[in-house]
Amino acid sequence: MEDLTGKKEVTTETTKCSKCGEIKSFKDFSKHKANKNNLQSWCRKCSSTGVTQYRNTEIGYLRMRYGSMRASEFRNRVHGRKNKCLLTFDEFLAAWKRHKSIYGMKSAWGPGINNLEQHLPVTMVHKVGGQGGKLKGSKQTGSNLSVDRLDPNQDYTLQNIIFIRADENDRKKHTTYSDCLIQIKLHDERFKNDSTTGRLLVDE
Ligand SMILES: [Zn+2]
Repeated sequence: MEDLTGKKEVTTETTKCSKCGEIKSFKDFSKHKANKNNLQSWCRKCSSTGVTQYRNTEIGYLRMRYGSMRASEFRNRVHGRKNKCLLTFDEFLAAWKRHKSIYGMKSAWGPGINNLEQHLPVTMVHKVGGQGGKLKGSKQTGSNLSVDRLDPNQDYTLQNIIFIRADENDRKKHTTYSDCLIQIKLHDERFKNDSTTGRLLVDE
């Protein structure tokens, strides 16, 4: 909050953090209007640690993923289209539980439930500062759970979302169904032993 006089607020007032118990300067606390002193009861350090710990739990991690789905409504994406998130958090959670009942803590990417050993495991690890690319050079954990829209031109719906890994989503990105068909056709032309020419077009 800005000082109405425009001067930089210099405060020597202190209060006790209800989490770590340390007496700290007011500036070590975030604002919270509903509270006494207009401050959070936990200091910034404890709040940040608490948030990080929460985001490393399953429910906290899922809430974070859901939050970024909601946030994507305000970002421009492929073809200038904005993606709507048409799911409530409860629906999203139910979808994840259904996924887990089929795949366990594994990605949906793979040959299917009879060959689950070929599906890679998903993790839910949140690193401090690793969110939203705020830190330069910070990398998202590749194995982390990622919510993919099967059809990137459609919204986040129960029908359209699948749970895969961040590194898999990175490979797939905005690839559409028709993109895949083109890719397969081109691949077949190049790599299948062509019977009309009778020669293999690539090195073995
Ligand atoms: Zn504290």
